[in-house]
Amino acid sequence: MTISPSALPAFHVMTKPRGAICNLDCKYCYFLSKERLYPNSDFRMSETLLEEYIRQMIEAHTAPEVTFAWQGGEPTLMGLDFYRQAVAYQQKHKRPGLRIYNALQTNAVTLDDDWCRFFAANDFLIGVSLDGPQALHDAYRVDKGGAPTFERVMRGIRLLQKHSVEFNILTTVHAANADHPLEIYRFLRDDVGTSFMQFIPIVERDNDTGFQEGDQVTERSVGAEQYGRFLIRIFDEWVRRDVGRVFVQIFDVALAVWSGHKAGLCVFEETCGAALAMEHNGDVYSCDHFVEPKHWVGNIVDVPLREIVNSDKQRAFGLAKRTRLPQYCRSCEVRFICNGGCPKDRFIKTPDGEDGLNYLCAGFKAFFTHIGPAMRFMANELAHHRPPANIMYHMRQQDELLQAAFARAGRNDPCPCGSGLKFKKCHGRADPNRQAAR
Ligand code: SF4
Ligand code: SF4
Repeated sequence: MTISPSALPAFHVMTKPRGAICNLDCKYCYFLSKERLYPNSDFRMSETLLEEYIRQMIEAHTAPEVTFAWQGGEPTLMGLDFYRQAVAYQQKHKRPGLRIYNALQTNAVTLDDDWCRFFAANDFLIGVSLDGPQALHDAYRVDKGGAPTFERVMRGIRLLQKHSVEFNILTTVHAANADHPLEIYRFLRDDVGTSFMQFIPIVERDNDTGFQEGDQVTERSVGAEQYGRFLIRIFDEWVRRDVGRVFVQIFDVALAVWSGHKAGLCVFEETCGAALAMEHNGDVYSCDHFVEPKHWVGNIVDVPLREIVNSDKQRAFGLAKRTRLPQYCRSCEVRFICNGGCPKDRFIKTPDGEDGLNYLCAGFKAFFTHIGPAMRFMANELAHHRPPANIMYHMRQQDELLQAAFARAGRNDPCPCGSGLKFKKCHGRADPNRQAAR
């Protein structure tokens, strides 16, 4: 079957040129176990396959830009020459007018001046995995010998900064760091000096296959409510002082949706299936989180990438995100932004016993409900061509009004914060932490 590229949905591919091979041994990593899928492999993408992949990616994109996303395992373990060659092949196959971008996700441990000079010269966008200040980062992000990695990661980040390489920080939220939201946020903002952050929940299934099976999670996984609280605490600081200067992915996604646009992030779209993963040998899977035999959709050596993306199997994978949404989600007030979250995390039952509710539901519901008023305010500012950062003045006014109401409230009055509790049981409690938490 020949498919016109113009009929293709927009898509991107996370490419793993070194497969699951990594220099670290992060305890929660979902990808290290994928090494077992390829016994006896050398886990190195060949130059022939690299060129073929680049040619097919460019051919399959009719949009004026295409992004190559390099991931792992640890993609820098391919060595710098591999990426020099990739850029050369991109230039060789590039159509006039096509913009080509490269994004690479790394643990930053291997970076040196040569890598950073190359990234800067070729406009690579680098994602660095960092889980917070030293003790929180080192809880799970260790090397093959079990040694901590924080100092080596920070060294890599400083090199990126020295060479003015564009980078963002990907922080996973897990049992060891989830109760420290502000410590992490302020560390990333003030000590690392980054303006772009992602907070990705660790929901790690407890099984021996490494696949998305079973309904138990490891003790490293974040709790649902805990994840919601984590996001809320950071949002409450961000919305008062950092709008327009710090960009947190889930906040940006939410503002896009509240403004009437698409989420732009598969987890919160109605359907998915446009974010595929490709292994070092050209095997393509439906998603980076479903690199397992039953979600194999083809190999680009045998079937053109554009046909794989457009295959019935891949389309069915993406549509299932919507068709399998439980009734509980369909009638949920924040479904318009949540859409049931990622299918990989949908393994608990709804209160009425239906399968397929997202493990993180309680956190999503709390978070999206909490940010609604501020999001509506910012969306309205955007709609009137005013900066959403105006929310910070609005929040300040609201806070001052609330403080004044606290000062006037009697002990048995309803708390002005709207909790429904008596003032003496809420913000009027003689507990300074309770007050500060507001
Ligand atoms: S399964 Fe989850 S991560 Fe994968 S494409 Fe769908 S929403 Fe995105
Ligand atoms: S918050 Fe919960 S019920 Fe609502 S859409 Fe998300 S997962 Fe479903």
